[in-house]
Order: sequence, then C-alpha cells, then structure tokens
Amino acid sequence: MVSPNGSVANKKNSAGWQFDNTYSRLPEVLFASAKPANVRAPQVSILNHGLAEELGIDLGVLVPEAAAALFAGQDLPGGARPIAQAYAGHQFGSFTMLGDGRAILLGEHRTPDGQLVDIQLKGAGQTRFSRRGDGRAALGPMLREYVISEAMAALGIPTTRSLAVVTTGEPVFRTSALRGAILTRVAASHIRVGTFEYLAARQDESNLRVLADYTINRHYPELADGPRKYLEFFRAVADRQASLIAQWQLVGFIHGVMNTDNMAISGETIDYGPCAFMNAYSPETVFSSIDHAGRYAYGNQPAIGQWNLARFAETLLPLLDSDREKAVAIASEALGEYPALFEQYWLAGMRRKLGLQTDDAGDGDLIRSLLGWMEKSGADFTNTFLDLSSDEPPAGDRYREPNFRAWYSQWQLRLSSERRPHTSPHAVMRAVNPAVIPRNHRVEEALSAAEGHDDLSVLHRLLAPLATPYQAGPDLAPYQDPSPDDCNYRTFCGT
Ligand code: AMP
Ligand code: MG
Repeated sequence: MVSPNGSVANKKNSAGWQFDNTYSRLPEVLFASAKPANVRAPQVSILNHGLAEELGIDLGVLVPEAAAALFAGQDLPGGARPIAQAYAGHQFGSFTMLGDGRAILLGEHRTPDGQLVDIQLKGAGQTRFSRRGDGRAALGPMLREYVISEAMAALGIPTTRSLAVVTTGEPVFRTSALRGAILTRVAASHIRVGTFEYLAARQDESNLRVLADYTINRHYPELADGPRKYLEFFRAVADRQASLIAQWQLVGFIHGVMNTDNMAISGETIDYGPCAFMNAYSPETVFSSIDHAGRYAYGNQPAIGQWNLARFAETLLPLLDSDREKAVAIASEALGEYPALFEQYWLAGMRRKLGLQTDDAGDGDLIRSLLGWMEKSGADFTNTFLDLSSDEPPAGDRYREPNFRAWYSQWQLRLSSERRPHTSPHAVMRAVNPAVIPRNHRVEEALSAAEGHDDLSVLHRLLAPLATPYQAGPDLAPYQDPSPDDCNYRTFCGT
C-alpha cells in the first residue's frame, strides 16, 4: 500500500535514513521536543563521505543545496523526531542542571550492520534548555570538532564522529561576530553521567531505573538478564572509561573539559571543545583558557575519570541496594577497582608502545623512567615514540644525553629478554605509535583558512595524513613538527 504522502517520505528517505527514535519513547522528563531554527543561507562546508557510507547514507543522491538543507536541519529526513535531551552535570566540580542548549537530536538511525546511532545537529538553535545561550555555534569550533574527532577515530580510539559541517549564512556573536555553523554529530548515544545525575537530583528513582535499563539494553545488552545487573553495569562503564582514558594518555590527547556531562556512558570520547594534543611530554599540560587550576591537565585525566565515576555511582545507589549503607559499600568497592583497571590498560598500551610482547614486573619502572627523561629534556611525546619505533637507533642530539643512553640500554636489554617474540618489536611499535597527530598549529592554520577565506583546502590536506595516522611516509614532516610557541597556545570552549 502506498500512503497518501508516500512519495514525499520516499524522497526524504532516499539517502538511506532508517530512523527508529527509541529515546523519544522514554519518559518525557528526559527530553523536550525541539525544532531546528530556520537559517538564512545554509551551505556545505565539509561532508564526510566515508562515514556516510559506513552509516548506509548515500550522499550522492543529494544535490549540494539538498545536503546543506538536510545538515542545517531545514529539511528533516523522513522519520526524524527532533528532541533536546535533559541532563545535569558537574562542571569543574560544581553541580548544575543543563540539557542540550544548542544541540538537537534528530533521532537514532539504524546502520546497515544493525547499530543504532544518534544523529545530532550541534548549533541548530535554541531549545528549552538553552538558558541564556543563543543555541548557535561558530564555524571554527565545529570544524575543530570535525578534525579532532575524525583523527581520534582513525587512531582507533572510541569517539563520536562528524558527518558534516554546514555554515548557516548567519553570524553568531561571541567576542566578535563569527560565521555560524552546524555540526552533524554521530554517536553511539548521548547518554552521559550527567543524564543519570539529572534524574538522581530530582530523586526520580523509578525513571532512573527506566534509564538504566534502557542504557543497559542499548550499550551493555550482555548484562540485561544477569544477576546484580546495576552493579555489573557500573563496573562495565568504569571498565570502558578506564580503557578510554588510558588510550587518551597513550596518544597524548587532552580532553580539556571532563565535566560529568561530557562523559558518555557508551565509553566514547565526546564533546570536543578545548581539547588538544600534547607536544612536549609534561603531565601538567593544560591548553584550555578557563582551566586555571589545571583540573583537567593531561596527568589528571585518569583521576578525574574516577571522580566522575564516583558521581555516576552515587546516582545508582538506590538501584544497588535498598539499604543505603549497603549500597554505598557496594559502590565504593566497585569504584575502588578503577585505579588498577586503568593501570592495567595503560601498562598494556605502554608495553606495546615500547614493542614489549611479554610482561615483566619491571616494565612500569622502565616506562616511567622514559617519561621522566622526556619531561626533563622537553622531548616531544609523539615523536619520541616514533623515533624509537624506527629500525635504526634514534638519531639527534637529545638522544646522545647520558640519561637517555642509560635508559636505552635498559630497554634493549629488556627487549632481548623476550625469548620468542611473535612479531618484530618495531612492527608492534609502528602499529600503535602514530606518525601524525593533529598538531595544534596545523589545526589552527586549517581553521583560519576556512573561517577567513572560505578555503577548505588546508583542512582537507590536514585530514589526509590524519586518516592513516600509523602510516609513516616521507611527506609527513610538515605535520610532525611540534607546534611552535606551545606554552602560549590556548583553546576555548566552543560556546
Ligand atoms: P559544553 O561546554 O559544550 O559541554 O556545554 C555545556 C552546556 O552549555 C550544555 O548544556 C550546552 O548545551 C550549553 N551550551 C553551550 N553553548 C551554548 C549556546 N551557545 N547556547 C545554549 N546553550 C549552550
Ligand atoms: Mg557538553
């Protein structure tokens, strides 16, 4: 049977959208319906064709105007049911009620391999949760999220993805007038620690259980029928966070704003605001202009992960045991497992970075001794591991320092103690030590060409090596030099 408006629906779905909006069937307290604002002159800035293909979306059927209208929220795909999600969060330690103030969830799209992914427009206008914000976003920060999230995905680190950036043809007013833009973000979901905090703050235990069950079914279905389901849920979330933050540490990624509303229960990296990659190794590295105390410094990320998980555990207390004291004991014990979990992931990753294929009790010390040398000598984190991954001994003045030579001999000794390594240590190392990361000055250069002269070519040139970050090559040098003047480099929240 053909419905009366079947032809319109078919046209709108011809790109391959398969919406199934499960979140909007949850209790209404969790969201508010929302409508993307009308914008004057939407124009495509960048489309992610590779990701579209993975999602089963055929961008080829869309003329540029249609793609611009789609990703600006002007022409909604058939089946979308736009909402803004309610959540709360601890921002720099202080609790606040928040919600999507400038992001609108179009719904969940079913990919060809059966995964459900959120399709969200960031910067699409005001919602019930906008407070005093304008609901808009500027081109620079949206392109920044595009570049860094795609670089993280290529590095193999769980992350939300970026499908498109469109400009709106309208200004957004910050400290100056900037070009307005909208990012299409694709995520396993946008359920955050803050989503649980929101219901816990309302003491809404019955909906908390509904949200927990929904989240378990969506992200941890293997736990759905198990005993002590909510405890296992907490432990699984903690495990994914430990693994995720270890992966950040291993590539020198600094998130910059690890508020609890920016910690996804799915275990993906989410919310690329003031994030940046570290150059010279130093645990104190902070780039965010508002992080004066260094709360979210590189070296603090693992501990902040645990702090955020403690806030998550607090929300789950009523589900863990009806006796509050018992619930606290259960939660504390599970939370206490996190530091060892993190250390395990980090150590395993660091061993691979040094080409070690077996475990030795001295490995932690060996690794920390290298990091200590890097910190004292100001060595670049990424390039040091890259140099060590080469078949030749590392060359350069820094590597002639006696402290490095001593460490190097120790490492060589440790490598030779591996009796039957399956793969050559350098091959192991090259698979995990990136040849390129998004260097801050390269990202800035690409964004300013795009913002200032509508020139996306610099950005496309940067995206190419970032798409295959473990592939070394002779042309990579311009993307491998550490950022000059890094001490003065500052990043800003994308508001
Ligand atoms: P973020 O720093 O991006 O994690 O955002 C923190 C909170 O501020 C979220 O609730 C956002 O929706 C909200 N927010 C950020 N920018 C804006 C804006 N321009 N208009 C309205 N709300 C915003
Ligand atoms: Mg956020």
